Amino acid sequence: MKVFYNKQQTAKVLISDSPSARKPKLVLQSWKKLGYPIEIMKVRPLTVDELCLAHEPSYVQGILKGRIKNGFGNKSKEIAKSLLWTNGSFVSAATHAYQHRESTFSPTSGFHHACYDQAAGFCTFSGLTIAAILLKKRFGAKKIGILDLDSHSGDGTDQTLQKTGYTDLVEHYSLGYDDVNIYNNQDWLNNLSDLIRNRFSDCEILFYQAGVDCHMDDPEVDSGHFTTEQIAERERIVYTTCRELKLPVVTNLAGGYQKPIEKVIHLHNLVAVAFHEVNQQI
Ligand SMILES: [Zn+2]
Repeated sequence: MKVFYNKQQTAKVLISDSPSARKPKLVLQSWKKLGYPIEIMKVRPLTVDELCLAHEPSYVQGILKGRIKNGFGNKSKEIAKSLLWTNGSFVSAATHAYQHRESTFSPTSGFHHACYDQAAGFCTFSGLTIAAILLKKRFGAKKIGILDLDSHSGDGTDQTLQKTGYTDLVEHYSLGYDDVNIYNNQDWLNNLSDLIRNRFSDCEILFYQAGVDCHMDDPEVDSGHFTTEQIAERERIVYTTCRELKLPVVTNLAGGYQKPIEKVIHLHNLVAVAFHEVNQQI
């Protein structure tokens, strides 16, 4: 299990007031405790030019220089610097997955509400859109899938792809656009394998936002309302189907807001468990 992590992706200033900022380190520790072989992979932070592939240059500079509020609603330069590493983690994981045709993990969150020139909902820069554009520019990627199973809509993903003219490059499904609730969520789950086949069969790589704020007990739940067992089933379906399609998957964490944070970490363990069940030899 290849995990793209660098401790610089966690800003110290954030640790006290944002549980999600502590998440990468805690999730990584928890995955290690499960006993699976984990390889920590090198992260290259993004450059300003790379951030500008998906964002207005004056917005990027404003965030980095502490003139514009980031997705956490403050102007911290330390947080801004850590964003070069979180986005770098995702892009490094996506690059490796594309080049080596093998699945990777990026313990990151905070991408899918980031707009072209505006931060929103804990998201500042769109690591998903930046990674897609970079794979096209560097390697000539033709079709990239984004399976966003966070509870909320990937509105920033759509907006940044539209503004930069890359909508044709990406096939995007976001659970947040569908009204999935306790009455229809098992039907949705039963259809998930077909959804992945129908949407992503012709993609070269899949970016998977394995958000767990769609759990029924999450204070921010919108679409989903899944039980823990349903989320475990979701992860098994995603990795089994992608294995059958020979589709490398880049998994990141996305949302999850239950307290205490151990509840969220427990749910994020389910991707590691399912990944190893499905790919036993890895
Ligand atoms: Zn969310």
